[in-house]
Amino acid sequence: MRIFLKTEEEIELMRAANLLVGETLAEIGKAIKPGVTTQQLDKIAEEYIMDHGATPTFKGFPNPYGGPFPASICASVNDEVIHGIPGERELQDGDIISVDCGVLLNGFNGDSCYTFCVGEVAADVRKLVETTKEALYIGIEAAQPGRRIGDIGYAVQRHCEQKGYGVVREFTGHGIGKDMHEDPAVPNYGHRGGGKQIKSGLCIAIEPMITQGSPQIVLMPDRWTVKTKDHKPAAHFEHTVAIHRGKVDILSSFRGIEEK
Ligand code: MG
Ligand code: MG
Repeated sequence: MRIFLKTEEEIELMRAANLLVGETLAEIGKAIKPGVTTQQLDKIAEEYIMDHGATPTFKGFPNPYGGPFPASICASVNDEVIHGIPGERELQDGDIISVDCGVLLNGFNGDSCYTFCVGEVAADVRKLVETTKEALYIGIEAAQPGRRIGDIGYAVQRHCEQKGYGVVREFTGHGIGKDMHEDPAVPNYGHRGGGKQIKSGLCIAIEPMITQGSPQIVLMPDRWTVKTKDHKPAAHFEHTVAIHRGKVDILSSFRGIEEK
């Protein structure tokens, strides 16, 4: 395992890439309403990313189990946890959709995900979405310099499981930099004080994937889409953060999404 710690200059390049992801998610957020297809959302993302001189990193991303990912965003609706392929599906009132987006800008990666509510969403599902977002910020707070990777997962897991939700085990957050996925893995479960120490210059994507019911998942025949086995909904939020200057610095942003 090799962890690439970043310089201040590299962290600023990471910030630029991640802010572009945040702006792209905000553009998608403006278009989310009943009747829009996930393919239309993907087109908005791809155009926005290319217009800003970046590359959508998800498009063509290799899959050890099948063909490369065909789109610029992952669009995962309701019981789809992650890696949903955009298509002709129309969003409906009451759906939730997790939009995950990644860009490469000036040699560095941005990666962030937000779960949007479509129209009027049932109170119990809204609660799942809110709790997952809370878990993201609780995980970020646990990523202080000198602490350990296991502290992040412990904090996320505790917050979600005490409310009765499931924590997906098979997919994790990750180091990020010149590659979208670098070491270390950042699980959403763990033990306090376990794992590698968090050092200055570390850049990681923290991304709780939380289920309303059982955390068991199944892979769809498209070899990408991951769904909950019990068909209950799942939510997914992700920020890329840098640990430097004695604190945790969130490089991606939900501001554009939430200030619309
Ligand atoms: Mg992501
Ligand atoms: Mg990620």
